[in-house]
Amino acid sequence: MTVTCDLCGLQAEEADALSWTTSTEHQRFRRYCDACSRRHLRAMEGKLDSEHW
Ligand SMILES: [Zn+2]
Repeated sequence: MTVTCDLCGLQAEEADALSWTTSTEHQRFRRYCDACSRRHLRAMEGKLDSEHW
């Protein structure tokens, strides 16, 4: 089965996508590839930081 990154549209075999990040946002299942996970994580951390202010 092939999975698709919800951010950049990258496709990979499910076995290769085990390290991808999955999350549920607004009741929608999302999947992010390694590169996007890192970008997404930084964005989330950035958002968290600003919420701590
Ligand atoms: Zn991606």
